[in-house]
Amino acid sequence: MFDNLSEKLGGILDRLTGRGSLSEADVDAAMREVRRALLEADVALEVVRSFTERVREQAVGATVVKSVTPGQMVVKIVHDELIATLGADGQTIDLNAVPPVAIMMVGLQGSGKTTTTAKLARRMTQRDKRKVLMASLDIYRPAAMEQLAVLGRDLDIPTLPIVTGQKPAQIAKRALEAGKLGGYDVVLLDTAGRTTLDEEMMSEAAEIKATANPHEVLLVADSLTGQDAVNLARSFDQRVGLTGIVLTRVDGDGRGGAALSMRAVTGKPIKLIGTGEKTDALEDFHPSRIAGRILGMGDVVSLVERAAANIDAEKAARTAERMRKGQFDLNDMREQLLQMANMGGISGLMGMMPGIAKMKNQIAAAGIDDKILKRQVAIIDSMTRAERKNPDILKASRKKRIAAGAGQNVEQVNKLLKMHRNMADMMKAMGSGKRGPLAGIAQA
Ligand code: GDP
Repeated sequence: MFDNLSEKLGGILDRLTGRGSLSEADVDAAMREVRRALLEADVALEVVRSFTERVREQAVGATVVKSVTPGQMVVKIVHDELIATLGADGQTIDLNAVPPVAIMMVGLQGSGKTTTTAKLARRMTQRDKRKVLMASLDIYRPAAMEQLAVLGRDLDIPTLPIVTGQKPAQIAKRALEAGKLGGYDVVLLDTAGRTTLDEEMMSEAAEIKATANPHEVLLVADSLTGQDAVNLARSFDQRVGLTGIVLTRVDGDGRGGAALSMRAVTGKPIKLIGTGEKTDALEDFHPSRIAGRILGMGDVVSLVERAAANIDAEKAARTAERMRKGQFDLNDMREQLLQMANMGGISGLMGMMPGIAKMKNQIAAAGIDDKILKRQVAIIDSMTRAERKNPDILKASRKKRIAAGAGQNVEQVNKLLKMHRNMADMMKAMGSGKRGPLAGIAQA
């Protein structure tokens, strides 16, 4: 799936590969092509607009790290933005409620609702070891009720006995009562769809929702219907309220626009994807995997990530050089504090370095914790450039201004300056190898 979009973006960005620097004109040209490719992939216009704008903003003037081409850099930015648009990983069905947990399936006729209900029941029964009851609320098509019953028999999963003459909301109520009496963990409600979006379907769904109070309302949408699926999702969400989306027929979707659009337009997570007709063809939705597939350039992404990591190493080496020369100013200290925060803060560092673990008690006694790192950075941030370069000019009035700017008191500014002096002294003495980098902090 998503082959076409992948090839197109790949082709466009390859043209950028090898250029010296990324000008605004380069980025604009690339974004025009990205925009065209996304539109051809059936991504909604409003989503295309905001997507390319976000990528553009990041691409123009982005520092192109050493050892990658500007084109590769753009691929990485597009990739990260695809993931951001598709949503975070691991949005699964939430069963965290008093059983029986009701899950309501909504969507158009033929979207794969009944099949997905059976797929979900199978997964929850076999993989998650839950006791599941399925109920069809489709009173308009007796064949639909029978279809679910057949699937249930095949999978050995119970379905609610069919009683004619009941309204959908009444059936939902009966299903939940049966769920309670039978000690079920989950009750899946397969509602009736229509061939098109209509008011009757919406009001019926809203009524069922009000009666059953489902923990999840999942829209089952056919990814092949692209733009229509997006409008459907928007309407259902506004009228009934959705908790998530299941995208079906992803196995036949070569364009992939629906996934991107639906998530962006509704803000609702795509929780599952259907990848075939059989009841085991249900998968978790992985934005990172799909973004990688859309671009088909996973290797480039990790290359850029590695290169960026090396840049940090270069920066660290430069700081070390300045330290040796006794030029360790407050800018350098800020850099060090941020690096510590990036590496998981003080507690993270202690976990990584066995030598430091021994100092744990000392550090705790000095009242050092991760919050202090942020506070210290805030203090340095409210200094002028001149002050950071030459802390000696910091007299009482400047300290007062800095403290106020950082929302701290002068005592804390003094502590930071003392810590900086300790660190600077320590840097000079480096080579004797007696003290670790945190020694200065512990004494502040
Ligand atoms: P409903 O009317 O929404 O309940 O739709 P059905 O569950 O009856 O599905 C309609 C058709 O789509 C059936 O032939 C299913 O086998 C097929 N179908 C459902 N989900 C998928 C899927 O993820 N991939 C493929 N290829 N076919 C699917």
